[in-house]
Amino acid sequence: MSNAAPITDRSTPIARTDKAHSVKAFIALGANLGEPLKQLDSAVVSLNQQKGISCIAMSKVYISKPWGKTDQPDFTNAMLEINTTLSAEQLLDILQKIELEHGRERKEHWGARTLDLDIILFGDETINSQRLTIPHPRAIEREFVIKPLADLDDTLVIGQHSIKDLLNTLPVETMEVIRDVTTYYC
Ligand code: AMP
Repeated sequence: MSNAAPITDRSTPIARTDKAHSVKAFIALGANLGEPLKQLDSAVVSLNQQKGISCIAMSKVYISKPWGKTDQPDFTNAMLEINTTLSAEQLLDILQKIELEHGRERKEHWGARTLDLDIILFGDETINSQRLTIPHPRAIEREFVIKPLADLDDTLVIGQHSIKDLLNTLPVETMEVIRDVTTYYC
């Protein structure tokens, strides 16, 4: 008889541990309070320490103007490419835990924040659940998402659109590059 504990609750997706099932995902990193660049780098370190997540590369780092709510500090933005054996919901749990560990308070929509982590792409999955919309609904509209994503992989397709087309049709905003290199982790 097997000694394995019986599975009694399958309401939460179980982490996939089989390496063959690892998924490539892209996470947008943003911050505009505290020490934004330090917080972005620290979030990447935290993510790389999580079971089921390996960081592949962090894009160049940009400064962008706030949108939605414009009377707040400029944002520092980057994109992180990972491989993960977690489900998208499990990944979101970890992102929210790391946001809280970095002093994130959920006060207002579009408001200032010490750390914002959003799942932009999760393999080629389309997800529309109560907690998650993937591809991220605002991704294709914003230069601070598309540009760092294209830094990492300019062959990506989001929905019906190639990343190169998206780049060409974006309204050009005034982003400044503050770290002009891609950082590779493996
Ligand atoms: P925000 O204030 O931008 O951090 O939004 C957080 C909320 O967006 C959370 O309640 C998430 O459940 C929800 N959400 C929906 N889709 C996504 C996504 N692709 N990545 C991260 N959060 C998401």
